[in-house]
Amino acid sequence: MFKKILIANRGEIACRVIKTARSMGIVTVAVYSEADANARHVRLADEAVLIGPPAASESYLVADRILQVAKDTGAEAIHPGYGFLSENDEFAEACERAGIVFIGPPASAIRAMGLKSASKALMEKAKVPLTPGYHGDNQDPAFLATQAQAIGYPVLIKASAGGGGKGMRRVDTAADFEAALTSCKREARNAFGDDDVLVEKYIVKPRHIEFQVFGDTHGNCVYLFERDCSVQRRHQKVLEEAPAPGMTPERRAAMGKAAVDAAKAVGYVGAGTVEFIAMQDGGFYFMEMNTRLQVEHPVTEMITGLDLVEWQLRVATGEPLPLTQEQLEIDGHAIEARIYAEDPDRGFLPSTGRLVHLAPPAESDHVRVDTGVEQGDEITPHYDPMIAKLIVWGADRRQALARMRQALAQYRVVGVSNNVDFLTRLVTVPSFANADLDTGLIEREQALLFPPAGEVRADVWLLAALAQLLREQRLAQKKAARSADPHSPWRALDGWRLNGHAERRLVFRLGESVREVGVEVLPDGYRLQISPKSVFARGTLGADSELHAQLGERRLRAAVVTSGERRHMFFEGRSWPLSLVDTLHAGGEGEEVEGGLRAPMPGKVVALAVQPGATVEKGAPLLVLEAMKMEHTIHAPRKGVVKAFRFAPGDQVSDGAELLDFEGSE
Ligand code: ADP
Ligand code: ADP
Ligand code: MG
Repeated sequence: MFKKILIANRGEIACRVIKTARSMGIVTVAVYSEADANARHVRLADEAVLIGPPAASESYLVADRILQVAKDTGAEAIHPGYGFLSENDEFAEACERAGIVFIGPPASAIRAMGLKSASKALMEKAKVPLTPGYHGDNQDPAFLATQAQAIGYPVLIKASAGGGGKGMRRVDTAADFEAALTSCKREARNAFGDDDVLVEKYIVKPRHIEFQVFGDTHGNCVYLFERDCSVQRRHQKVLEEAPAPGMTPERRAAMGKAAVDAAKAVGYVGAGTVEFIAMQDGGFYFMEMNTRLQVEHPVTEMITGLDLVEWQLRVATGEPLPLTQEQLEIDGHAIEARIYAEDPDRGFLPSTGRLVHLAPPAESDHVRVDTGVEQGDEITPHYDPMIAKLIVWGADRRQALARMRQALAQYRVVGVSNNVDFLTRLVTVPSFANADLDTGLIEREQALLFPPAGEVRADVWLLAALAQLLREQRLAQKKAARSADPHSPWRALDGWRLNGHAERRLVFRLGESVREVGVEVLPDGYRLQISPKSVFARGTLGADSELHAQLGERRLRAAVVTSGERRHMFFEGRSWPLSLVDTLHAGGEGEEVEGGLRAPMPGKVVALAVQPGATVEKGAPLLVLEAMKMEHTIHAPRKGVVKAFRFAPGDQVSDGAELLDFEGSE
């Protein structure tokens, strides 16, 4: 076995490889870009070497530099992970020339599977079932249009060099073919530097079912069963599971054989994945082969109890496969969810920033978290915005699903937009729960997956208020403990006053909605008021942000993470990024002028707290202004009516600008 290996990757997969290498007593060398100087994979590795600036093209993709580091550090082999250089045949060849083992298939196998069109020609010879279509060299638009006609619409135009869901166009009618071809070729040229395309039958309501294969240098090749990756957005996987729901032993054997035939046809060695597009009637066609370890390999590990990275390392040193096909077994069901820094409500736009708070669910035999980041780390714009992969195992799909829901409910991410709430809705959608799968599931379930914001339940505001009061109380106690007289009531900030019960208001905002919670401090808790109801509340707030609350007769659990004025509420598997407005009433009253209220400082209107025409009491919040990164509430100077607002949320206002028309009652 190797004594030392280099990992030519970053993020969760670099950490994943280091973990297995370490367990096998192999020393690890990490490489990193300037943006990753303090990244988790660098912290975990035994040695780490800087290879260049943040841009991947100047660091993680610079083959010569990485090979030099391997030589300098005495690494005997290079694990490429996925992405980056993992499917680069020239890099695999360069490793070989330098006498360093490339932990992956031979360069010839990568090359053979590199282009979708060429690989299909090979698969045709190996008698692997192919999607009806044209995958030859003739790129004449008129010829391709004739082929499309012969295949029958709808068809899919695919960039031959494509990957990651890019360079694909569905075409429904002959009239649209030419325009789609032009745009697909343009995208392919820009993304892959190669504009050759193939045209194939567009399969309606298909499933994506892929087979994990493994070959060794002794001519053995097995399949480690399948993964269903049908839940996709923009042809990219979001959820993956194993085994595929509804798979029969006969069909598994047939698909497994086709996958092994595909691998053998190119002399495959190591871990690879053969992707099939499967029809609802069970028929299947070869789509492509990914010649590397796949992002979703953990679901296979969970149902087989195997370590695929260990297998990769063994095969790379020339050992035979540890098990034969007959010895491989499926145990239970596993599901993986990709946790991304992205905003599902804005077209899954990637989000960057510091992970102010990051609390994954506790890991166990059934729950696994593969990640490349920890709390305090940054998600930068330079790389894939994946935060983690959450993988769960259950004795059956139903149990795995229940565990996934629970684990997602425990996942807390603050600092970047993320898809945790979206994933929670996704695993709850009846069609997914009932395994009614196809690649259009997300598209079809829009209504359930992107519900309108709607009213936030009163409980959420109440819990936020309770957490705030408990937090202030804790701060006050700390202060008092440090002061000369720990019992001095003047040092306490908990609202306690000499003249009996105290009253105050806490104002929270979510997007453009503002709610006020009235607080009365009682000897053993608080009376919280959110119109029209009032409830007795008490509880404890742990240092880990856990809130154990009692609201009236009910006991509730939530978590509240504080970050600046933000109060991130996690409750019942959902989260709400609330803001606390005006801590302790510090903040601007509007300057009252004849008939209106003026902005006390320049800023941006973030929310209106009441409807125009509303009658309000003295002190009621009317409008929230953001200035110098702080939020300020403009309150009613006395009882009266808000006639009209002069601005809308998002508007910038200058110092002294008249914000609203207000009419006092007397
Ligand atoms: P998969 O089928 O494993 O999802 P894809 O073919 O969609 O793979 O994408 C190719 C691989 O490259 C994926 O494993 C993906 O996570 C990885 N990848 C995509 N973009 C990046 C990036 N910017 N940095 C590193 N890896 C990436
Ligand atoms: P990539 O290299 O980008 O991963 P694939 O050929 O693997 O490209 O296809 C990616 C996804 O596109 C598949 O998982 C599937 O959802 C969809 N797809 C591919 N081929 C077809 C087809 N012929 N009909 C319908 N959908 C398809
Ligand atoms: Mg693919």
